[in-house]
Amino acid sequence: MKIGALKETYEGESRVAVTPSSAAHLRKLGHEVIIESGAGARAHFSDADYEAAGVSVVPNAAALIAAADVVVKVRPPSEDELGRMREGQTLISHFYPAQNAELLEKARVQGVTAIAMDMVPRISRAQKMDALSSMANIAGYRAVIEAANNFGRFFTGQVTAAGKVPPAKVLVVGAGVAGLAAIGAATSLGAQVYAFDVRPEVAEQIESMGAEFVFLDFEEQAQDGAATGGYAAPSSPEFREKQLAKFRELAPEMDIVITTALIPGRDAPKLWTRDMVEAMKTGSVIVDLAAERGGNCELTIPDERVTTENGVVVIGYTDFPSRMGAQASELYGNNIRHMLSDLTPGKDGVINQNMEDDVIRGATVTHDGDITWPPPPPKVA
Ligand code: NAD
Repeated sequence: MKIGALKETYEGESRVAVTPSSAAHLRKLGHEVIIESGAGARAHFSDADYEAAGVSVVPNAAALIAAADVVVKVRPPSEDELGRMREGQTLISHFYPAQNAELLEKARVQGVTAIAMDMVPRISRAQKMDALSSMANIAGYRAVIEAANNFGRFFTGQVTAAGKVPPAKVLVVGAGVAGLAAIGAATSLGAQVYAFDVRPEVAEQIESMGAEFVFLDFEEQAQDGAATGGYAAPSSPEFREKQLAKFRELAPEMDIVITTALIPGRDAPKLWTRDMVEAMKTGSVIVDLAAERGGNCELTIPDERVTTENGVVVIGYTDFPSRMGAQASELYGNNIRHMLSDLTPGKDGVINQNMEDDVIRGATVTHDGDITWPPPPPKVA
């Protein structure tokens, strides 16, 4: 089959769904690979790099969609891109079907098979194609880099002839994929890192990375995340009060706060309140990775960097993976090629849309003129 990667049209998006190295893997599966001219430019892959990897370059999106059997991209398709697609064609991209009902209906009407990278089931076998995790890992790392870039001091402690410098104190709120990546990046820069999560089972992971788990003195320790498949559930009002009291105690001490707390299907919980920001030292930095879902910090403005009256920088960017376009494309390109590898079991360039396969079924949101989202629960963990 012909796999074609479009150039992203979303403003500022720097990622691309196929890299020269992932293209080489796709060719080994028996596929031909084509790319829209300039698609990799913002991720530092030139048309010539693709050509050297055996990829054909086509001049524009219309030519790419006309020539490809499978169209791959990063962001959900635009109306225009989807409108150009035809019956029997496959699209692989982020899709967010819960937020994009009209797009889903359009894909159905067009007869397109749409595979949503954001719907890959979070089971062990599917980790290699789990784009939410690969992008969250980058976001967590980049959050620390943005914080360091906005913080006027070292992260690491130093004893120098010019004076003794204490290490920066970093608090990471939410220790899922992004939070753990942030902990790793902040400890490797030498900061003293603290982390909190409502799921007590992550304490061991936090401590194994050299950070300190913030325990709450609370009789019924938080929800057991296992009950919700490893995700958090909303906290009880009593627990929330304890948590906020702990954060109020920590706020004046922390130089950097990185928040990543999310609960599936809900707005981000507000955990870092105005008075906590006001209690922080001038020059402190908050990076709110939950900004797209409303933010964990009360002062976050999505997509903006604001400085409060007391001199605290609050960063609400929502494009962290795109700020590391080359790295994000490399990992997303791998997620895509693993998905295509499962879709091409014979390595013969023939796509087998096996709807009995939990992972393929889980990620497929339209197929054969039907909306196939939401999927039934996976049979295996
Ligand atoms: P997420 O993005 O939904 O949430 C981020 C973190 O915020 C979670 O750790 C959550 O517990 C925490 N949180 C929610 N409310 C909070 C609050 N009030 N205070 C503090 N923290 C709060 O989570 P995620 O990064 O997608 O990962 C969730 C879980 O799924 C993790 O256990 C992760 O290891 C697991 N996971 C498994 C797979 C797989 O098996 N393929 C893939 C990805 C993630």
